[in-house]
Amino acid sequence: MKTNFLKPDIARPRTLSLPILLISACLLAACPLAAKERKVRISLYTVTRPAAMTLTPAQGNVFINDRILKTPVLIEAKASRVGIKGFGAPLKSIRVDILGKGVWLEGDASHKRLYRGTLDITAEKGRLKILNTIPLEEYIASVVSAEAGDLSQTEAFKAQAVAARTYTLKHINNHVKTGYNMCDSTHCQLFTGFAAVKPIAQAAVDFTRDEVVTYHGNLAAAFYHSICGGRTEAMIYVWPFEHKPYLVSVMDGPANKPYCSIAPGFNWKTRISLKALTGIARSQNWILPGEEIRRMTILDRGVSKRAVTIEFATGSRRVKISATNFYHGVGRRAGWNAVRSTLFQVYSGKDDIIMEGKGNGHGVGMCQWGAEGMARLGFKYRDILLHYYPGTEVSLSE
Ligand SMILES: [Zn+2]
Ligand SMILES: [Zn+2]
Repeated sequence: MKTNFLKPDIARPRTLSLPILLISACLLAACPLAAKERKVRISLYTVTRPAAMTLTPAQGNVFINDRILKTPVLIEAKASRVGIKGFGAPLKSIRVDILGKGVWLEGDASHKRLYRGTLDITAEKGRLKILNTIPLEEYIASVVSAEAGDLSQTEAFKAQAVAARTYTLKHINNHVKTGYNMCDSTHCQLFTGFAAVKPIAQAAVDFTRDEVVTYHGNLAAAFYHSICGGRTEAMIYVWPFEHKPYLVSVMDGPANKPYCSIAPGFNWKTRISLKALTGIARSQNWILPGEEIRRMTILDRGVSKRAVTIEFATGSRRVKISATNFYHGVGRRAGWNAVRSTLFQVYSGKDDIIMEGKGNGHGVGMCQWGAEGMARLGFKYRDILLHYYPGTEVSLSE
């Protein structure tokens, strides 16, 4: 989970009728009375926002507005209405009830994915808005499969399941203003449907059912990331949020052999020309259109030695930006592999700079590859969670 603060461009919620509104209020507040049937509503294809999609029933019954779907059907955004081929005039909204194995969605450069539960589809400005409502535990099994896909240890998957469940419930109102709980991108947690749910992830979710990380009885903000690089970072050095006593910097095992040192991509190195860096900096409005970057330096660092503030020297002035902004800006423009973390050194040449770094992701909270390393050494999932979120407890959610 990268929590990369990409702001998805999100359509307005449709007007809800009263019964739906009541259910939604319950959904969006993670209604405690319905804990066993707690559901989440997720926005699908939030980043790609397709204009058309083909729906294909996988196996079992799929209904569109109470009409049974036997063969693939094309759904298209027609301005602010939704057209279904063969269903007559475009509609304000459509509802898809999936009773069987699922329904495949595919279209316009959007990955083919299998979904369950219900889909509420509307359109805005020629783009589809697809909201998927499913039981929380099914959602977590999919998220754990997508977010921890490269791990292999059962206890690491259990720790990931508890962290993802806690993160979901803590951030259940992330998108409440636009009518859903979570988006399907790394802004919230990666959710790619049900075609690739791993048995090890499903077993971990079942084993830890309803378990969450709490601090003094309240849900913890269970951030996690791929590879810390040897030491996690205190949240206050990464985001301007209120300090959390359990989101402090922890050593990820011995300094000479961190738990996450088993991860592929633990060390990374990127060379970037000053010209390319200038292009990125202009596109992100870090510098003015006529300015050119001559040098880049790191002004200060956090507890884990991650960069906190970066300074660019142009011909005429110095510009400071947060290292978190730098990391996201480069990621958006040059891909997330170029600068994988803010834990790096900068070496300046005449025409380019070299960044040598460790880790992948923001570095706050649980290190996923560290969890894998701890599990390989025999630690149990509760030990793993308490290591990365010190002072917390694992409790049953209400
Ligand atoms: Zn989101
Ligand atoms: Zn680590």
